[in-house]
Amino acid sequence: MRFDILTLFPETINSACNFSIMKRALNENIIQINAVNPRDYSLDKHKKVDDTPYGGGAGMLLSCQPYLDALKNIEKKEKSKTIIMSPQGKIFNQETAKELAKYEQIIIICGHYEGFDQRILEKTQAEEISIGDFVLTGGEFPALCIIDSVTRLLDGVLGDEESVKFDSHFDGLLEHPHYTKPRIYDNLAVPDILLSGNHEKIKEWRRLQQFIVTKLKRPDLFYKFLKSNISDYDKKILKNNNLF
Ligand code: SAM
Repeated sequence: MRFDILTLFPETINSACNFSIMKRALNENIIQINAVNPRDYSLDKHKKVDDTPYGGGAGMLLSCQPYLDALKNIEKKEKSKTIIMSPQGKIFNQETAKELAKYEQIIIICGHYEGFDQRILEKTQAEEISIGDFVLTGGEFPALCIIDSVTRLLDGVLGDEESVKFDSHFDGLLEHPHYTKPRIYDNLAVPDILLSGNHEKIKEWRRLQQFIVTKLKRPDLFYKFLKSNISDYDKKILKNNNLF
């Protein structure tokens, strides 16, 4: 998977990807990160990338020429997707991360200042993606959220491939609670079932906890799950605990 990022601050992307799982994925060549600065493509003698808005108003807008020329210079792979970071876009979630993980290349255009000249959106036809209903200074942190969440879904990135399947949001539910040593901490004990050695019972308990936690913290997700195609295994647990 190659991520090509158009950003005025390539160092933000490169430095954030230099740790932990992302660094390992880079070292093992599972991902490549190519942060491109549109300023390097500006034909302006002062390397300007922005200008004032027609019609007046506050702030500066990113100009077409440096962004579209930088984009043209990115070598396209066969299965490539271009997205533009924008607070006006579709809200990013785990489903979108799973969809993006199917591509060979994701090109991410990061905005700054007041945002883009509208013609950048028209020319690229890129999908606008938002990471939430709030406004950030630039698209770099949103881009990093996407790069990180997609990378951890790629084969060979996490030590245990199965672990993502139990993460929150993988199948529309939140994750069950976890405990580690010591067995008792400040009068708080680990639930007995987790020490029982009965793997089937532990699996069932964990699934039940997923239902309970999701219902409590994110009832919207829980009721959406109830309307989905629920397996007989899940139905049995839900019914036995009066959750269905
Ligand atoms: N004037 C724009 C508006 O009101 O829609 C906001 C511009 S914002 C200050 C600058 C850039 O940050 C945007 O072009 C976008 O790339 C990025 N950005 C800000 N908030 C974002 C969000 N919630 N999700 C994704 N990108 C965001």
